[in-house]
Amino acid sequence: MSLPVEFKPLHIPPLEEVAEVLQKALQKNFAEVEVTVVNCPDLTKEPFCLKARGLCGSPRLADVGGVPHLMPHVQKDKLYDIKTLAVSVDLPDAFVVGAGAGPYPAVGVNSELMANIVTGDNCANGSHIAKIDSSGNSQLMKLPESATGCALMLNMFASEGLPGKVLRVWAKKRTGNINLVTCIRQALLSHYSEKPIGLGGTFRLVNGHAKCHVMPDFSTVPLTCTEDVNEWLRFFDMQAPMVFLSTLITKDHGLDLRLEHSHGYGSNCGGHYHYDTTPEIVEYEAFYNVAEFIYRVDRPKITHNLGRN
Ligand SMILES: [Zn+2]
Repeated sequence: MSLPVEFKPLHIPPLEEVAEVLQKALQKNFAEVEVTVVNCPDLTKEPFCLKARGLCGSPRLADVGGVPHLMPHVQKDKLYDIKTLAVSVDLPDAFVVGAGAGPYPAVGVNSELMANIVTGDNCANGSHIAKIDSSGNSQLMKLPESATGCALMLNMFASEGLPGKVLRVWAKKRTGNINLVTCIRQALLSHYSEKPIGLGGTFRLVNGHAKCHVMPDFSTVPLTCTEDVNEWLRFFDMQAPMVFLSTLITKDHGLDLRLEHSHGYGSNCGGHYHYDTTPEIVEYEAFYNVAEFIYRVDRPKITHNLGRN
């Protein structure tokens, strides 16, 4: 059965204009900032090691499912295949990066998904998951090539994976109170106001530590409030270098969206990004492209705002 899909166009300002807006705003939150328009570095190479070269060609965001599929009661029938999701967003041969819940049938338990996959005829799966192992530690795993699924929710950025112009955001030493992604999103919201803007791509935590969470296996009791969720989640202080896959959008656009979502991994850790914990030494380098559309796939029928930070 095909999934219900809605989509809306987004405002697409020139990259140079976005760079200027971000440069001004990020300077209020970081001591050193450089936002430029560059040719996307080859993302298949170190230090990114992703499955396609760039973030260009038909760039689009999709918000699939959502937290309401996880809580208060988990809906374990909410399973997706990223190859099918690429078709749902009208880009069957896509390079997809993003943050979601891992495919529990392949992993064995609930997990964080760092999606990094090329769909279509040349399918290549570089996705990782992070789970809580039997001794309560966080464990990073590369998914097998055939495990192209996800569960419950996924925030994805899809493109043709081509080289081309993108935004480069470099920021060092945090002087303000907000994390990198929120800072970018709020800057765009405040400048473009009613015009919705979406970005997707990847950022590196070059130096410092980040507070990240990893979902344990599904809760046996209903999660009914923020306190329940925070009790259930496992939080970790993770150390650079880490590569994050990231989406953000300025406005809900009437689609019941999650406004920002970033998952990342290092050599032996991974999870959901909250913020860096080392403002004095933190350093980020990000590459983002501006999305042309937001797709809403399998929007939860009953919704709430819990657990979206
Ligand atoms: Zn997450």
